[in-house]
Amino acid sequence: MNIYRLVYYSRNHVSSDDASYETAVDDILAKSRVNNVRDNITGALLFNSGCFAQVLEGPLDKVEATFERIQQDERHSDVSLLGLDPVSQRSFPNWAMGFVGLSDADAGRFAAVGLSSGFDPSRLNGEQIHILLRDLTMEEENSF
Ligand code: FAD
Repeated sequence: MNIYRLVYYSRNHVSSDDASYETAVDDILAKSRVNNVRDNITGALLFNSGCFAQVLEGPLDKVEATFERIQQDERHSDVSLLGLDPVSQRSFPNWAMGFVGLSDADAGRFAAVGLSSGFDPSRLNGEQIHILLRDLTMEEENSF
């Protein structure tokens, strides 16, 4: 089966108030994980400093349909597509939707790629975002 990888970032509209933030992220992740298992999609979502960045990988028609829904979602705006390319293998085979970006270790990882003041996706290309999310997710996986 041909697998495609899509990378985008967006401006998030989720309140930074702790309770509403947690509810919104929990909602997004719960819905994503159900839909993505159904659609054979894997990937990871990053939240930091008012932005989302996400990698979706799976069959082209499913990735495109999911991205269509995501673009309509009012919990974020200014969705910028950075890449949609065929890939030989998945980078997130064990994640219906991983979530990264809030731990101290992740902050150190941002600094390592020159983002010392936090994650600013407009300064990264699609491949850099993909590698960053892949590495953060892998660290999370290895910590279990
Ligand atoms: P339903 O859950 O029935 O939702 C119907 C409509 O209500 C949709 O238009 C939805 O956008 C809207 N909606 C639902 N809950 C809320 C809410 N709390 N606030 C505002 N609007 C709401 N979906 C995936 O399937 N896979 C993903 O990987 C994925 N990643 C996402 C990443 C981000 C950053 C965001 C913001 C959303 C993401 N979503 C993802 C959710 C996606 O935007 C749709 O909400 C979801 O796919 C709709 O699922 P559904 O068709 O089962 O509709």
